[in-house]
Amino acid sequence: MALSAFDVAQRQFDEAAEAMGLDHAMREVLRVPQRELIVNFPVRMDNGTVRVFTGFRVQHNITRGPAKGGLRYHPAVNLDEVKALAMWMSWKTALMHIPFGGAKGGIICDPRQLSQGELERMTRRFATEISLLVGPHSDIPAPDVGTTAQTMAWFMDTVSMHQGFSIPAVITGKPVSVGGSEGRAEATGRGIATATIRALKTLGIAPADATVAVQGCGNVGSVSAMLLERAGCRVIGICDVDGAIWNPNGLHIPALLEHVRESGGVRGFAGGSEAPGEEILTARTTVVVPAALEGQITADVAAAMRCKVVVEGANGPTTPDADIVLRDRGILLVPDILANAGGVVVSYFEWVQDLQAFFWEESDINLRLENLMRRAFDVVHGIAVARDVTMRQAAYSLAVDKVAQATMVRGIYP
Ligand code: NAD
Repeated sequence: MALSAFDVAQRQFDEAAEAMGLDHAMREVLRVPQRELIVNFPVRMDNGTVRVFTGFRVQHNITRGPAKGGLRYHPAVNLDEVKALAMWMSWKTALMHIPFGGAKGGIICDPRQLSQGELERMTRRFATEISLLVGPHSDIPAPDVGTTAQTMAWFMDTVSMHQGFSIPAVITGKPVSVGGSEGRAEATGRGIATATIRALKTLGIAPADATVAVQGCGNVGSVSAMLLERAGCRVIGICDVDGAIWNPNGLHIPALLEHVRESGGVRGFAGGSEAPGEEILTARTTVVVPAALEGQITADVAAAMRCKVVVEGANGPTTPDADIVLRDRGILLVPDILANAGGVVVSYFEWVQDLQAFFWEESDINLRLENLMRRAFDVVHGIAVARDVTMRQAAYSLAVDKVAQATMVRGIYP
Protein backbone atom coordinates (compact mmCIF):
# COMPACT_ATOMS: atom_id res chain seq x y z
CA MET A 1 0.00 0.00 0.00
CA ALA A 2 1.21 3.50 -0.82
CA LEU A 3 2.52 5.46 2.14
CA SER A 4 0.52 8.50 3.21
CA ALA A 5 2.25 11.89 3.33
CA PHE A 6 2.51 11.66 7.11
CA ASP A 7 3.94 8.10 6.88
CA VAL A 8 6.58 9.54 4.57
CA ALA A 9 7.33 12.46 6.91
CA GLN A 10 7.64 10.11 9.91
CA ARG A 11 9.82 7.67 8.00
CA GLN A 12 12.17 10.48 6.97
CA PHE A 13 12.29 11.67 10.57
CA ASP A 14 12.82 8.14 11.99
CA GLU A 15 15.72 7.52 9.62
CA ALA A 16 17.33 10.83 10.58
CA ALA A 17 16.77 10.16 14.29
CA GLU A 18 18.33 6.70 13.96
CA ALA A 19 21.35 8.02 12.06
CA MET A 20 21.88 10.73 14.70
CA GLY A 21 21.34 8.36 17.62
CA LEU A 22 18.61 10.71 18.90
CA ASP A 23 17.38 10.06 22.43
CA HIS A 24 14.25 7.86 22.55
CA ALA A 25 12.08 10.35 24.45
CA MET A 26 13.03 13.11 22.02
CA ARG A 27 11.97 10.90 19.12
CA GLU A 28 8.57 10.42 20.75
CA VAL A 29 8.16 14.19 21.15
CA LEU A 30 9.23 15.18 17.64
CA ARG A 31 7.57 12.47 15.56
CA VAL A 32 4.03 13.77 16.25
CA PRO A 33 2.45 17.23 15.97
CA GLN A 34 1.83 19.22 19.13
CA ARG A 35 -1.64 20.51 18.18
CA GLU A 36 -4.26 19.44 15.60
CA LEU A 37 -7.41 21.51 15.11
CA ILE A 38 -10.30 20.34 12.87
CA VAL A 39 -13.07 22.83 12.06
CA ASN A 40 -16.41 22.26 10.30
CA PHE A 41 -18.04 25.53 9.35
CA PRO A 42 -20.95 26.81 7.23
CA VAL A 43 -20.60 29.13 4.25
CA ARG A 44 -23.44 30.76 2.35
CA MET A 45 -23.06 29.95 -1.34
CA ASP A 46 -24.00 32.28 -4.21
CA ASN A 47 -27.23 30.34 -4.89
CA GLY A 48 -28.44 30.95 -1.32
CA THR A 49 -27.75 27.43 0.01
CA VAL A 50 -25.44 26.74 2.94
CA ARG A 51 -22.48 24.36 2.54
CA VAL A 52 -20.38 23.00 5.40
CA PHE A 53 -16.62 22.92 4.77
CA THR A 54 -13.95 21.09 6.77
CA GLY A 55 -10.63 22.75 7.50
CA PHE A 56 -7.49 22.05 9.54
CA ARG A 57 -4.69 23.84 11.34
CA VAL A 58 -1.83 21.76 12.71
CA GLN A 59 1.16 22.99 14.72
CA HIS A 60 3.95 20.44 14.69
CA ASN A 61 6.51 22.15 16.92
CA ILE A 62 6.71 25.66 18.40
CA THR A 63 9.85 25.32 20.49
CA ARG A 64 11.93 27.70 18.35
CA GLY A 65 9.26 30.37 17.83
CA PRO A 66 5.75 31.00 16.50
CA ALA A 67 4.25 28.32 14.28
CA LYS A 68 4.64 29.06 10.55
CA GLY A 69 3.17 27.41 7.48
CA GLY A 70 0.84 27.80 4.54
CA LEU A 71 -2.87 27.32 3.93
CA ARG A 72 -3.88 24.86 1.19
CA TYR A 73 -7.22 24.87 -0.65
CA HIS A 74 -7.52 21.57 -2.55
CA PRO A 75 -10.05 18.71 -2.81
CA ALA A 76 -7.48 16.18 -1.52
CA VAL A 77 -6.56 18.08 1.67
CA ASN A 78 -6.81 15.85 4.75
CA LEU A 79 -5.52 15.85 8.32
CA ASP A 80 -2.75 13.37 7.56
CA GLU A 81 -1.39 15.55 4.73
CA VAL A 82 -1.56 18.72 6.85
CA LYS A 83 0.36 16.94 9.66
CA ALA A 84 3.10 15.97 7.21
CA LEU A 85 3.34 19.48 5.78
CA ALA A 86 3.48 20.93 9.32
CA MET A 87 6.35 18.62 10.28
CA TRP A 88 8.31 19.53 7.14
CA MET A 89 7.89 23.22 8.06
CA SER A 90 9.56 22.61 11.45
CA TRP A 91 12.62 21.16 9.74
CA LYS A 92 12.66 23.84 7.04
CA THR A 93 12.62 26.79 9.44
CA ALA A 94 15.30 25.11 11.59
CA LEU A 95 17.52 24.39 8.59
CA MET A 96 17.27 28.03 7.47
CA HIS A 97 17.92 29.39 11.03
CA ILE A 98 14.54 31.14 11.08
CA PRO A 99 13.01 31.58 14.58
CA PHE A 100 9.74 29.82 13.75
CA GLY A 101 8.15 26.46 14.44
CA GLY A 102 6.27 24.39 11.88
CA ALA A 103 2.56 24.48 11.02
CA LYS A 104 0.19 23.98 8.11
CA GLY A 105 -3.50 24.36 7.40
CA GLY A 106 -6.06 23.90 4.71
CA ILE A 107 -9.64 23.45 3.61
CA ILE A 108 -11.12 20.53 1.67
CA CYS A 109 -12.48 22.38 -1.38
CA ASP A 110 -11.87 22.96 -5.06
CA PRO A 111 -11.12 26.69 -5.33
CA ARG A 112 -11.54 26.50 -9.12
CA GLN A 113 -15.24 25.67 -8.56
CA LEU A 114 -15.91 28.56 -6.13
CA SER A 115 -16.75 32.16 -7.03
CA GLN A 116 -14.69 35.04 -5.60
CA GLY A 117 -17.52 35.80 -3.18
CA GLU A 118 -17.69 32.19 -1.99
CA LEU A 119 -13.90 32.05 -1.60
CA GLU A 120 -13.94 35.26 0.42
CA ARG A 121 -16.73 34.12 2.76
CA MET A 122 -15.11 30.69 3.20
CA THR A 123 -11.72 32.28 3.99
CA ARG A 124 -13.19 34.77 6.48
CA ARG A 125 -15.12 32.09 8.35
CA PHE A 126 -12.10 29.74 8.35
CA ALA A 127 -9.91 32.57 9.70
CA THR A 128 -12.46 33.08 12.47
CA GLU A 129 -12.57 29.35 13.29
CA ILE A 130 -8.79 28.94 13.53
CA SER A 131 -8.24 32.29 15.27
CA LEU A 132 -8.05 30.14 18.42
CA LEU A 133 -4.52 29.35 17.30
CA VAL A 134 -3.31 32.08 14.93
CA GLY A 135 -1.75 35.39 15.88
CA PRO A 136 1.38 37.40 15.10
CA HIS A 137 3.22 35.85 18.06
CA SER A 138 1.65 32.39 18.02
CA ASP A 139 0.96 31.10 14.51
CA ILE A 140 1.41 32.90 11.19
CA PRO A 141 -0.12 31.33 8.04
CA ALA A 142 0.98 31.96 4.43
CA PRO A 143 -0.01 30.91 0.88
CA ASP A 144 0.21 27.34 -0.40
CA VAL A 145 -1.53 25.36 -3.14
CA GLY A 146 -4.81 27.00 -4.16
CA THR A 147 -4.39 30.17 -2.09
CA THR A 148 -3.09 33.56 -3.23
CA ALA A 149 -2.13 37.03 -1.97
CA GLN A 150 -5.85 37.91 -2.12
CA THR A 151 -6.66 35.00 0.23
CA MET A 152 -4.03 36.32 2.64
CA ALA A 153 -5.55 39.84 2.47
CA TRP A 154 -9.03 38.51 3.41
CA PHE A 155 -7.51 36.51 6.26
CA MET A 156 -5.56 39.50 7.60
CA ASP A 157 -8.64 41.75 7.31
CA THR A 158 -10.81 39.26 9.21
CA VAL A 159 -8.41 38.92 12.14
CA SER A 160 -7.94 42.71 12.13
CA MET A 161 -11.72 43.30 12.19
CA HIS A 162 -12.01 41.10 15.27
CA GLN A 163 -9.42 43.26 17.06
CA GLY A 164 -10.52 46.62 15.73
CA PHE A 165 -7.14 47.54 14.26
CA SER A 166 -4.80 46.25 11.55
CA ILE A 167 -2.63 43.25 12.41
CA PRO A 168 -0.56 42.72 9.27
CA ALA A 169 1.93 40.38 11.02
CA VAL A 170 -0.77 37.70 11.49
CA ILE A 171 -0.18 36.31 8.00
CA THR A 172 2.46 36.56 5.27
CA GLY A 173 2.29 36.50 1.49
CA LYS A 174 -0.09 39.48 1.58
CA PRO A 175 -0.30 42.11 -1.19
CA VAL A 176 2.34 44.83 -0.70
CA SER A 177 -0.47 47.40 -0.26
CA VAL A 178 -1.48 45.85 3.10
CA GLY A 179 1.96 45.12 4.57
CA GLY A 180 3.19 42.38 2.26
CA SER A 181 6.86 42.21 1.39
CA GLU A 182 8.46 43.10 -1.91
CA GLY A 183 9.81 39.90 -3.41
CA ARG A 184 7.54 37.50 -1.46
CA ALA A 185 5.48 36.41 -4.48
CA GLU A 186 8.65 35.30 -6.29
CA ALA A 187 10.57 34.13 -3.21
CA THR A 188 10.03 30.37 -3.41
CA GLY A 189 10.86 30.28 -7.12
CA ARG A 190 13.86 32.55 -6.56
CA GLY A 191 15.19 30.19 -3.90
CA ILE A 192 14.66 27.21 -6.22
CA ALA A 193 16.49 28.95 -9.05
CA THR A 194 19.40 29.79 -6.71
CA ALA A 195 19.58 26.20 -5.43
CA THR A 196 19.37 24.80 -8.97
CA ILE A 197 22.25 26.95 -10.26
CA ARG A 198 24.29 25.93 -7.19
CA ALA A 199 23.52 22.24 -7.79
CA LEU A 200 24.54 22.55 -11.46
CA LYS A 201 27.79 24.19 -10.36
CA THR A 202 28.67 21.21 -8.16
CA LEU A 203 28.31 19.02 -11.28
CA GLY A 204 30.37 21.41 -13.42
CA ILE A 205 27.38 22.29 -15.65
CA ALA A 206 26.96 25.89 -16.84
CA PRO A 207 23.35 27.20 -16.86
CA ALA A 208 23.57 27.70 -20.63
CA ASP A 209 24.22 23.97 -21.04
CA ALA A 210 21.28 22.93 -18.84
CA THR A 211 17.72 22.09 -19.79
CA VAL A 212 14.86 22.15 -17.28
CA ALA A 213 11.42 20.49 -17.03
CA VAL A 214 8.94 21.77 -14.44
CA GLN A 215 5.89 19.96 -13.01
CA GLY A 216 3.30 22.53 -11.90
CA CYS A 217 2.78 26.05 -13.21
CA GLY A 218 1.40 27.80 -10.14
CA ASN A 219 3.28 30.21 -7.92
CA VAL A 220 6.32 27.97 -7.42
CA GLY A 221 6.58 26.33 -10.86
CA SER A 222 6.01 29.48 -12.90
CA VAL A 223 8.53 31.65 -11.04
CA SER A 224 11.13 28.84 -10.99
CA ALA A 225 10.77 28.51 -14.77
CA MET A 226 10.98 32.26 -15.30
CA LEU A 227 14.09 32.78 -13.16
CA LEU A 228 15.87 29.69 -14.48
CA GLU A 229 15.28 30.92 -18.02
CA ARG A 230 16.62 34.32 -16.95
CA ALA A 231 19.69 32.58 -15.49
CA GLY A 232 20.43 31.11 -18.94
CA CYS A 233 18.83 27.63 -18.73
CA ARG A 234 16.55 26.28 -21.45
CA VAL A 235 13.12 25.40 -20.01
CA ILE A 236 11.96 22.68 -22.43
CA GLY A 237 8.75 21.53 -20.73
CA ILE A 238 6.23 22.60 -18.12
CA CYS A 239 2.88 21.14 -17.08
CA ASP A 240 -0.12 21.84 -14.90
CA VAL A 241 -2.96 19.58 -13.79
CA ASP A 242 -4.45 19.61 -17.31
CA GLY A 243 -1.37 18.74 -19.40
CA ALA A 244 2.12 19.72 -20.54
CA ILE A 245 3.64 22.02 -23.12
CA TRP A 246 7.02 21.32 -24.75
CA ASN A 247 9.58 23.06 -26.87
CA PRO A 248 13.02 21.41 -27.20
CA ASN A 249 14.49 24.78 -28.22
CA GLY A 250 13.26 26.34 -24.99
CA LEU A 251 9.85 27.77 -24.13
CA HIS A 252 9.52 31.54 -24.10
CA ILE A 253 8.47 31.74 -20.45
CA PRO A 254 7.14 35.34 -20.26
CA ALA A 255 4.87 34.61 -23.26
CA LEU A 256 3.81 31.28 -21.73
CA LEU A 257 2.95 32.92 -18.39
CA GLU A 258 0.93 35.58 -20.21
CA HIS A 259 -0.98 32.72 -21.89
CA VAL A 260 -1.53 31.05 -18.46
CA ARG A 261 -2.83 34.33 -17.01
CA GLU A 262 -5.29 34.72 -19.87
CA SER A 263 -6.47 31.13 -20.32
CA GLY A 264 -5.91 29.64 -16.85
CA GLY A 265 -3.49 26.90 -17.97
CA VAL A 266 -0.50 25.97 -20.13
CA ARG A 267 -2.49 24.06 -22.76
CA GLY A 268 -3.04 25.82 -26.06
CA PHE A 269 0.20 27.85 -25.86
CA ALA A 270 1.26 28.58 -29.43
CA GLY A 271 5.00 28.52 -28.63
CA GLY A 272 5.16 24.76 -27.98
CA SER A 273 3.49 21.42 -28.55
CA GLU A 274 1.16 19.59 -26.15
CA ALA A 275 1.86 16.27 -24.42
CA PRO A 276 0.55 14.35 -21.39
CA GLY A 277 1.67 15.90 -18.10
CA GLU A 278 3.18 12.62 -16.80
CA GLU A 279 6.03 12.87 -19.32
CA ILE A 280 7.56 15.85 -17.53
CA LEU A 281 9.14 13.88 -14.70
CA THR A 282 10.79 11.30 -16.96
CA ALA A 283 11.93 13.77 -19.64
CA ARG A 284 15.50 13.64 -20.93
CA THR A 285 16.70 16.90 -19.39
CA THR A 286 19.37 18.16 -17.02
CA VAL A 287 17.01 19.31 -14.26
CA VAL A 288 13.52 18.30 -13.14
CA VAL A 289 11.66 20.61 -10.77
CA PRO A 290 8.57 18.91 -9.28
CA ALA A 291 6.48 21.91 -8.16
CA ALA A 292 2.95 20.48 -7.76
CA LEU A 293 2.01 18.03 -5.00
CA GLU A 294 3.43 15.29 -2.78
CA GLY A 295 4.12 11.68 -3.79
CA GLN A 296 4.72 12.35 -7.50
CA ILE A 297 8.14 10.67 -7.79
CA THR A 298 7.55 7.05 -6.82
CA ALA A 299 10.19 4.32 -7.08
CA ASP A 300 8.88 3.44 -10.57
CA VAL A 301 9.04 7.03 -11.76
CA ALA A 302 12.52 7.41 -10.22
CA ALA A 303 13.71 4.34 -12.13
CA ALA A 304 12.50 5.93 -15.39
CA MET A 305 13.89 9.43 -14.77
CA ARG A 306 16.54 10.66 -17.21
CA CYS A 307 17.75 13.85 -15.52
CA LYS A 308 20.90 14.65 -13.55
CA VAL A 309 19.32 16.81 -10.85
CA VAL A 310 15.94 16.88 -9.07
CA VAL A 311 15.16 20.13 -7.24
CA GLU A 312 12.12 19.67 -5.02
CA GLY A 313 9.95 22.76 -5.47
CA ALA A 314 6.93 20.99 -3.98
CA ASN A 315 6.83 19.67 -0.44
CA GLY A 316 7.24 15.90 -0.25
CA PRO A 317 7.20 15.13 -4.01
CA THR A 318 9.54 12.13 -3.64
CA THR A 319 8.72 8.92 -1.73
CA PRO A 320 11.39 7.33 0.52
CA ASP A 321 11.72 4.35 -1.87
CA ALA A 322 12.23 6.74 -4.78
CA ASP A 323 14.95 8.51 -2.76
CA ILE A 324 16.90 5.25 -2.67
CA VAL A 325 16.47 4.67 -6.42
CA LEU A 326 17.64 8.20 -7.23
CA ARG A 327 20.64 7.88 -4.91
CA ASP A 328 21.64 4.53 -6.45
CA ARG A 329 21.27 5.96 -9.94
CA GLY A 330 23.52 8.92 -9.07
CA ILE A 331 20.81 11.55 -9.58
CA LEU A 332 21.45 14.52 -7.28
CA LEU A 333 18.35 15.50 -5.27
CA VAL A 334 18.06 18.89 -3.59
CA PRO A 335 15.48 18.24 -0.84
CA ASP A 336 12.31 20.28 -0.31
CA ILE A 337 13.25 21.58 3.15
CA LEU A 338 16.22 23.30 1.48
CA ALA A 339 15.12 23.86 -2.14
CA ASN A 340 11.75 25.54 -1.53
CA ALA A 341 12.72 27.37 1.68
CA GLY A 342 12.86 30.74 -0.11
CA GLY A 343 9.16 31.24 0.53
CA VAL A 344 9.39 30.96 4.28
CA VAL A 345 12.61 32.98 4.37
CA VAL A 346 10.89 35.98 2.76
CA SER A 347 7.75 35.31 4.83
CA TYR A 348 10.05 35.76 7.83
CA PHE A 349 11.33 39.03 6.33
CA GLU A 350 7.70 40.11 5.81
CA TRP A 351 6.80 39.34 9.43
CA VAL A 352 9.84 41.26 10.71
CA GLN A 353 8.95 44.25 8.49
CA ASP A 354 5.31 44.18 9.69
CA LEU A 355 6.31 44.06 13.36
CA GLN A 356 8.74 46.96 12.88
CA ALA A 357 6.45 48.85 10.48
CA PHE A 358 9.59 49.49 8.44
CA PHE A 359 9.83 48.17 4.90
CA TRP A 360 12.88 47.14 2.91
CA GLU A 361 13.84 47.55 -0.75
CA GLU A 362 13.20 44.59 -3.07
CA SER A 363 16.88 44.49 -4.06
CA ASP A 364 17.87 44.07 -0.37
CA ILE A 365 15.34 41.29 0.09
CA ASN A 366 16.41 39.36 -3.00
CA LEU A 367 20.08 39.70 -2.11
CA ARG A 368 19.55 38.49 1.48
CA LEU A 369 17.45 35.59 0.23
CA GLU A 370 19.98 34.51 -2.39
CA ASN A 371 22.83 34.70 0.12
CA LEU A 372 20.91 32.59 2.65
CA MET A 373 19.99 30.01 0.01
CA ARG A 374 23.57 29.75 -1.28
CA ARG A 375 24.95 29.42 2.24
CA ALA A 376 22.39 26.77 3.21
CA PHE A 377 22.99 24.84 -0.01
CA ASP A 378 26.76 24.85 0.51
CA VAL A 379 26.51 23.71 4.14
CA VAL A 380 24.12 20.85 3.30
CA HIS A 381 26.06 19.80 0.21
CA GLY A 382 29.33 19.95 2.17
CA ILE A 383 27.96 17.60 4.84
CA ALA A 384 26.52 15.26 2.21
CA VAL A 385 29.92 14.96 0.53
CA ALA A 386 31.91 14.69 3.77
CA ARG A 387 29.67 11.97 5.26
CA ASP A 388 28.78 10.29 1.97
CA VAL A 389 25.04 10.71 2.57
CA THR A 390 22.26 12.20 0.43
CA MET A 391 21.49 15.91 0.62
CA ARG A 392 18.15 15.00 2.27
CA GLN A 393 19.94 13.04 4.99
CA ALA A 394 22.41 15.89 5.49
CA ALA A 395 19.63 18.50 5.68
CA TYR A 396 17.59 16.40 8.13
CA SER A 397 20.56 15.80 10.41
CA LEU A 398 21.09 19.56 10.74
CA ALA A 399 17.41 20.47 11.07
CA VAL A 400 16.31 17.74 13.48
CA ASP A 401 19.35 18.36 15.67
CA LYS A 402 18.48 22.06 15.90
CA VAL A 403 14.87 21.41 16.97
CA ALA A 404 15.97 18.66 19.39
CA GLN A 405 18.60 20.95 20.98
CA ALA A 406 16.01 23.70 21.49
CA THR A 407 13.51 21.25 22.98
CA MET A 408 16.17 19.82 25.30
CA VAL A 409 17.45 23.16 26.56
CA ARG A 410 13.93 24.45 27.25
CA GLY A 411 13.08 21.25 29.14
CA ILE A 412 9.79 19.42 29.52
CA TYR A 413 7.10 21.62 31.13
CA PRO A 414 5.99 21.44 33.95
P1 NAD B 1 -0.32 26.63 -6.80
O1 NAD B 1 -1.70 26.31 -6.41
O2 NAD B 1 0.03 28.05 -7.10
O3 NAD B 1 0.07 25.75 -8.09
C1 NAD B 1 -0.02 24.35 -8.15
C2 NAD B 1 0.25 23.92 -9.59
O4 NAD B 1 0.37 22.49 -9.63
C3 NAD B 1 -0.86 24.32 -10.56
O5 NAD B 1 -0.28 24.70 -11.78
C4 NAD B 1 -1.63 22.99 -10.75
O6 NAD B 1 -2.32 22.91 -11.98
C5 NAD B 1 -0.47 22.02 -10.69
N1 NAD B 1 -0.87 20.64 -10.38
C6 NAD B 1 -1.72 20.20 -9.43
N2 NAD B 1 -1.83 18.87 -9.48
C7 NAD B 1 -1.01 18.46 -10.49
C8 NAD B 1 -0.68 17.20 -11.05
N3 NAD B 1 -1.22 16.07 -10.57
N4 NAD B 1 0.21 17.16 -12.08
C9 NAD B 1 0.73 18.29 -12.57
N5 NAD B 1 0.48 19.51 -12.07
C10 NAD B 1 -0.40 19.60 -11.06
O7 NAD B 1 0.63 26.04 -5.65
P2 NAD B 1 2.11 26.51 -5.26
O8 NAD B 1 2.00 27.57 -4.23
O9 NAD B 1 2.90 26.76 -6.50
O10 NAD B 1 2.66 25.19 -4.54
C11 NAD B 1 3.20 24.07 -5.25
C12 NAD B 1 4.02 23.22 -4.31
O11 NAD B 1 5.05 24.01 -3.73
C13 NAD B 1 3.27 22.62 -3.11
O12 NAD B 1 3.85 21.37 -2.79
C14 NAD B 1 3.54 23.61 -2.00
O13 NAD B 1 3.39 23.03 -0.72
C15 NAD B 1 4.97 23.96 -2.31
N6 NAD B 1 5.45 25.22 -1.74
C16 NAD B 1 4.80 26.40 -1.98
C17 NAD B 1 5.32 27.56 -1.46
C18 NAD B 1 4.71 28.92 -1.74
O14 NAD B 1 5.30 29.92 -1.33
N7 NAD B 1 3.60 29.03 -2.44
C19 NAD B 1 6.48 27.54 -0.65
C20 NAD B 1 7.12 26.32 -0.44
C21 NAD B 1 6.60 25.17 -1.00
